[in-house]
Amino acid sequence: MKIDVLLTCDRTLMSNHHGKEFLGFGTSAPPNWIPELIFRQLFFPKMKKVDGLPWQAPYGLRKIEAKLIDEGIDAIVVDPDDLAGYKAKVIGIYVMDAFGWGPSSTTFAGIMKTGEPYLAKYFKKLLQSKGYKKLKAHGAKTIVGGPAAWQFRFKPEFLDEYGIDCVFEGEGEMAVHLIKKALDGEELPKFYKESKVPAIEEIPEIKRASVNGLVEIGRGCPRGCKFCSVTLRPLRWYPYEKIEKEMKVNVEAGVKGGILHAEDVLLYGQRGVIPNEEKIVKLNEMAKKYYNIISWSHASFAAVAAKPKIIEKVAEIICDEKQRWWGAEMGIETGSPELIKKAMPAKAKPFKPEEYPEVVKQAAGIITDNNMIPACTLIAGLPEEEEKDIIKTIELIEDLKDFKSLIVPLFFVPMGKLKEKDWFRKEEMSELHKELFIKCMLHNLRWVKEITNDYFRGKKVHSIIKPFYILFVKLIEWQAKKKGVLE
Ligand code: SF4
Repeated sequence: MKIDVLLTCDRTLMSNHHGKEFLGFGTSAPPNWIPELIFRQLFFPKMKKVDGLPWQAPYGLRKIEAKLIDEGIDAIVVDPDDLAGYKAKVIGIYVMDAFGWGPSSTTFAGIMKTGEPYLAKYFKKLLQSKGYKKLKAHGAKTIVGGPAAWQFRFKPEFLDEYGIDCVFEGEGEMAVHLIKKALDGEELPKFYKESKVPAIEEIPEIKRASVNGLVEIGRGCPRGCKFCSVTLRPLRWYPYEKIEKEMKVNVEAGVKGGILHAEDVLLYGQRGVIPNEEKIVKLNEMAKKYYNIISWSHASFAAVAAKPKIIEKVAEIICDEKQRWWGAEMGIETGSPELIKKAMPAKAKPFKPEEYPEVVKQAAGIITDNNMIPACTLIAGLPEEEEKDIIKTIELIEDLKDFKSLIVPLFFVPMGKLKEKDWFRKEEMSELHKELFIKCMLHNLRWVKEITNDYFRGKKVHSIIKPFYILFVKLIEWQAKKKGVLE
């Protein structure tokens, strides 16, 4: 079949992870003691197809697909295993963590030391596949883009090795002119970085279902953490109607659950850092009208603590006979006010940096009381981190022992305003870092069984696969002890 633009991604991304977004983290683990065939089924099972095309696809791919269609360009998202069935002028590949250099991959690698993570392995597999090679043999141009586009600058030889014509860094909508150039047979730059961003009216609504019903509610973040690339982009919130259209697309495709995506869902519609109750209530009521089950991509402790009543209200909307809890990723990052001041000046706002550990504890109480279960992150090895900062983080984790959550420490990866700094590596871990990792592991082991029970409630198939995930956590613990990361 002939098409102008084929859009795809590797197998780890073209999956809905059994409808459990958090399981997507498993793709950043390296091959381990669980046989690959089983691991794949557990963490990135193949996406179901409808009329020969993926039922759901990563949101980023769906956005660019919609933009191209709106521009009158013939484009579709296809499964990476189906490339051989097409002839195309351009192949667009979406990458999340192409070489496994993202924070969760490097952390897994540091603990497990068993090779490149699955997401990197499957990205390479895509480029080595017969389907990809056939498309290239027929003259297709390859453009790669997505959150991991920056990684290719450190590995330029990879482009020639796999026939990648152009790597695009920036918001996907801004890549359309490059795709048009490729369609016209013009030469493409090896690397293209676009710092301009589309206005809201230039951002299309997806036309086909996204993985796990994810819909963006806005882009950008006002908190300005130095290690984060999101913060370099302006803040834009979408109107309700725009969000609603995408929910309808998902529901009409048979997707029953959805994720509201923003860097801080609680700040929806706001210019500053104080959540607005009316807007959050309206947004969640609308989401619950379409989806049986909803969750949030991200939220901040400071926003929870700033308006505690909002979480109570949202719990009343979300928690019902179809769902008992909801999740979000939340960055604790550190327990040290000094490090907050140096690296994340607006993280605690509207509170002072000195208040941050108390803010986290207070918010944790509100969250637990209202059936929200977050997966939290910490950053180890920030360039400005000192021993006293790590001690404060350890103290905070100790204080959070009754907080029903997972707390995942991640190694610092140079991004955002700190992109010129060096990576933090396992060899640089001090005794205090190890102690912090042990505290987090103990915290997680304390809660993982209960959270897994909550997570896999409902479908019969989930009760069958649940023990495998518990086994996987046990294996990480065992390996971490064996490698001396955990004592
Ligand atoms: S709060 Fe999160 S998204 Fe916002 S700048 Fe900080 S790390 Fe980035």
